[in-house]
Amino acid sequence: MISLSASIGIAVMGENPETAETLLSQADTAMYAAKSAGGLQVRTYDVILDRGVRNRVALRSDLRAAFSENQFELHFQPQISLADASLIGAEALLRWRHPDRGLLTPDAFLALLLESPYESTLVEWLLNTVCLHIAAWQRMGVTVPRISLNLSARQLLDMELADRIRHVVGKHGISAAMLDVEITEDCLVSDIDMATSVLATLKQAGLCTSLDDFGAGYSSLSYLVRLPVDTLKIDKSFVRGLAVSDKASAVIRGIVGLARSLGMKTVAEGVEHQHQADELKDAGCDSIQGYLVSRPLSSEAFVEFLRRRSVA
Ligand code: C2E
Ligand code: CA
Ligand code: CA
Repeated sequence: MISLSASIGIAVMGENPETAETLLSQADTAMYAAKSAGGLQVRTYDVILDRGVRNRVALRSDLRAAFSENQFELHFQPQISLADASLIGAEALLRWRHPDRGLLTPDAFLALLLESPYESTLVEWLLNTVCLHIAAWQRMGVTVPRISLNLSARQLLDMELADRIRHVVGKHGISAAMLDVEITEDCLVSDIDMATSVLATLKQAGLCTSLDDFGAGYSSLSYLVRLPVDTLKIDKSFVRGLAVSDKASAVIRGIVGLARSLGMKTVAEGVEHQHQADELKDAGCDSIQGYLVSRPLSSEAFVEFLRRRSVA
């Protein structure tokens, strides 16, 4: 089955006489704005969009230097068990230390990067960099159970991914079981059969797998039954809804129950307050990630965080 999606840009002829070319270029700008907002949307042209597009064009031309001059880095956000507060792992999150714009988070550049020719360069860089960090921490005597990394739909849908990961972890002398691959539901929407096969090969290679932002997308329950996934990551929108509405709590309990009956673990994301952690524990959720525990940390700050915890 082939699924098609569309992003639509609309431009309207204004009071000033515009040429057909200008109108088309404005519709194009609006279409790119719809695409970078996640696609499947309609956007109408506005001068503010023009500024956004100029900004993106400038950033796009900076991408080449970003790799060649080592401007990307990973920050690490700890995940802890709700049962005993032990560290279960950390999520690697991409950052761009831009020479003029400072430290950028993925919302500023990820969509651009993923639609650029550098999408596959990113996977190689990500795997290598995660393994380099793990190896360095091991040499320092710092133990981290597992590092999660994020893959886009196109990055996942590659039948050679497991082999490539095996090669990289082998090169760095790291166990594949220390890596957890996080995917979102859009990986499943584009090609569920291939996504299932690739995930199965990752698990055969010894990796862990997680379904990110669970509940925020299409959440078709039929695929969950056969999906080779170890962990469901409960989307932060439900965590934010705790204490605001009983419905969020009911959904979280539903997700935890579903995960349990399918033999999966649960991690709740975006936990900022103690009452949220308490409610999640009460609902039977296994672990949490969020500002309550720690913001994403540079590698050095992450080591410091781990050392402080082991002293405490
Ligand atoms: P995500 O995978 O859902 O990552 C969690 C996001 O929530 C991170 O945003 C994190 O900084 C943020 N966050 C963590 N704790 C809290 C909290 O308590 N409250 C709130 N409000 N937010 C919290 P970040 O780092 O900006 O990353 C955004 C997204 O970019 C990620 O969402 C992920 O989908 C994507 N991403 C990050 N790194 C990579 C990467 O290396 N490759 C790919 N393909 N995508 C990446
Ligand atoms: Ca993630
Ligand atoms: Ca997430």
